[in-house]
Order: sequence, then C-alpha cells, then structure tokens
Amino acid sequence: MASKSYNAVSIIRKKRDGKALTKEEITFLIDQYTADELPDYQMSAFLMAAYFNTLNSDEASALTYAMLHSGKVVDLSDIPGKKVDKHSTGGVGDKLSLILAPIVASYDVPVPMISGRGLGHTGGTLDKMESIPGFTVDITLDRYREILSKCKMVMAGQTEDIAPADKRLYALRDVTATVESIPLIASSIMSKKLAEGIDALVLDVKFGSGAFMKTQEDAKKLAQTLVAIGEDFGKETVAYLTNMNQPLGYKVGNWLEVEESMEALQGKGPKDIMEVTHTLAGTMIFLGGKAETVGDGIQKSKEAVRNGQAFEKWLQLTEHQGGNIEVLKDFDKYSKAKHQFEFTAKQTGIISEIDAYCIGMASLELGAGRKKKEDTIDSAAGIELKHKVGTKVKKGETLAVGFTNNNKAIETAEDTLDDAFIVDDTHVIKEQMVTHRVDKDGIHKISKKQ
Ligand code: URA
Repeated sequence: MASKSYNAVSIIRKKRDGKALTKEEITFLIDQYTADELPDYQMSAFLMAAYFNTLNSDEASALTYAMLHSGKVVDLSDIPGKKVDKHSTGGVGDKLSLILAPIVASYDVPVPMISGRGLGHTGGTLDKMESIPGFTVDITLDRYREILSKCKMVMAGQTEDIAPADKRLYALRDVTATVESIPLIASSIMSKKLAEGIDALVLDVKFGSGAFMKTQEDAKKLAQTLVAIGEDFGKETVAYLTNMNQPLGYKVGNWLEVEESMEALQGKGPKDIMEVTHTLAGTMIFLGGKAETVGDGIQKSKEAVRNGQAFEKWLQLTEHQGGNIEVLKDFDKYSKAKHQFEFTAKQTGIISEIDAYCIGMASLELGAGRKKKEDTIDSAAGIELKHKVGTKVKKGETLAVGFTNNNKAIETAEDTLDDAFIVDDTHVIKEQMVTHRVDKDGIHKISKKQ
C-alpha cells in the first residue's frame, strides 16, 4: 500500500497538465480507489486526464502493476512446464481460443485461460463455453489449478480475486467515455492476464470494422504497448496483428461457434480461422518450449489437428468442466433455435464486403449478445454466413441464415444484415489475415502465408 501522504487533487492536476506520474502516485490512486477511499468522481477525472494526455510506458506499467496487485496473483509454479496463454482484443466470430488451447495443451504446454464475456458487438469465450450443456466456467482457484494440472488447460471466468481494481475501473470507464485509450486498454488487459500465473503470452490484436481498433496503425500502437508491459513484467510476449474486416469463419453466435470450433478441431476448419489459429498456436507451442522455432510450432499445430489429439484434449477438458461431450460429437443432439430465416442477395454480383461490426450487431439482436449487463444469452442464436467476401452470387441466393428463439428480433436483424453485405461488381483483393508480428525486437511485417 502506498503512503497516504499523496494528495489526489494534486495527482489529477499533474496529469491534467500533461505531466508524467510516478509509480507511487499511480499506486496511491489505485489503492485508495480499491479501498473505497477515493470517490468515483476523482477517479473519473483522472481517467479523463489520462485519456486526453495519454500515459507513457512507465505509467502504463505502473497502472498494470497496481491493478494486478489489487487482487491475487495465481502461483502455478508447482505445475510443471511454461504456462502460456493467448488473449484476443475481441472480434466477430472469434472462436480461436476454443481451437488453439487444446492444440497447445495437447503438447503438454499448460494453458491457463481466464476469459471474458461478450462485449458490445464482439463475442466472449465464456458465453461460448456456457452454450455447451453443463459446462461451468465458475470455478474456484483451487479447482482451476487442479484442472490445469490434469488436463494441461483450463477455461475459467474472472473471479472476484483477480484484478478487482480493473473490474471497478472498467465499469467506470464504460460510463465515462474513457474506454478507448490505448494505455488504459493495455493495462486493463495485462493486469488480468498477468494475474493468471503465466510465463508467456501471445496476443491477437485485431484491426478492422469488427475490431475495437479500426485501423492497423492503432492496432500497432496497442500491440506495442501490450508487448512492452508484458516484457516489463518479465514475461515473453508476442503480438500478431490480424484482420477483422469480415467475420472469422462462417458461424457467429455462441453455440454456432462451438460447432465451428469442433469442426476445426476435426480438420474441417475454414481457411481464415486455421491460418490465424496455427500462427498463434505455433507461437504458443514454441514459447512453451515444445518446438524449435515458430515454424516448427506451426507444423506441430497442424499435426495435432490432423491426428485428432487436439479434439481429444477438448473432450477431456469438457468432461472435467462438467460439459456434455455427446453434443460436441453429434450436433443434432443440441436443441436448435426455434426460428430460422434466410437473408438473400438483392442483386447478382460479387460480395465485396461483409461488415463484421454489422454481423456482430445482427447476431446480438438475435440474442447472442447482451444489450444490458443483466440480459440473458440465447445460446442457439446467431448467424451462419453462406459465403465469404469475393464470392460471386446470384440475385435471390442465400447469403446468411439467422437463428433465434425470439422471432420479434428478426426484422431488426434483417435490417442490420442489409447494412452488412455489399454485392456489386467490385474486384476484391484477398486481404492477408496475419499482417504483422510485434515482439520485444520491434514490428515485423509478415509478407506471406506461413
Ligand atoms: N478488454 C479489457 O479487458 N479491457 C479493456 O479496457 C478493453 C478490452
């Protein structure tokens, strides 16, 4: 706990005037806020000053440190192996955790994963996991360690003990228009990831219409900030910039994404998903010490899908977390949405755009996401795309199928889908999925598919 001789008003004024704060000053603010001795209005003023005047890398690290130590830091040192996790900054159809975690764990690299719920138009891993009947993500830290020890992977929700200051600060940022700050986002993400007990981290920093970072430039800055914080804490940290202009894969919505993940684990995954998955998983296998190079890790990742060991690992984890594995082997055993509708092309042409943000919003409208914090999720709701960008389609051909248990939502979802698709005669250049790698040595352009 920092000395109480600091004055909150002076610290806020210092940041307001564009000066850098010391680690002690930042720790003071966070400690006081966590102890309920600093009111929301002063924390809001600090956040707005940080938003406008930004935080330098030392300040971002200090904020991460203070938030990390506001709760428990899980000690996994008695579990053998380098623990490696992955974090995504969020996207539409982003189900990669469900595919890459079992791939990596199948090489005995422990993957301790604490995930979040859907945020805005983006889906959350926890909501996807909970769409599997019986699967529980609400587990104690003891159970978390036990499952990790047995399965080499675990997928859990954030407990009250993990970075509680971030939880409160995030809620405050949400209502004070201070979410969209690169150092605030980076310290928020890293405080939670560092609390998991990891040794290394791979970050998937998304850019494009379905991402929080709309431009590659902003994604680069966020990646650099995340990597700098990770390395400052002595954790090997690698970030990849990945494309999120159209949804990843074909299925968007919680159960639909579980289906697509199971298909991917059995060798039937869409190309875009597998390209990003193998890059991230290959890097994790390398960082976990089970591959000579990242390229070797990528080959191992492909092999784990080919020989079925990754799918087996997923079934093992599901059983440990109480989930029904029968529905994962046979999707017909899952209770489907009551209502389905087809969204068709208004004209003949080439699909030149499938706006990921609009698809995410249409899926949310159908019940796959929350409009208010207390909303319940319709696990079966979502959208299945029938085509991807660049495909020629005829007028009247089905572009997407919507699923919901709430037929009142269909009209609004159809309007949103209308905004998502552009069918015209534009020649489409295929976009690269993984464009850059950011690590402690800098930013590296990835020129070709690995
Ligand atoms: N995700 C987080 O965990 N924190 C942020 O600030 C933004 C996205």
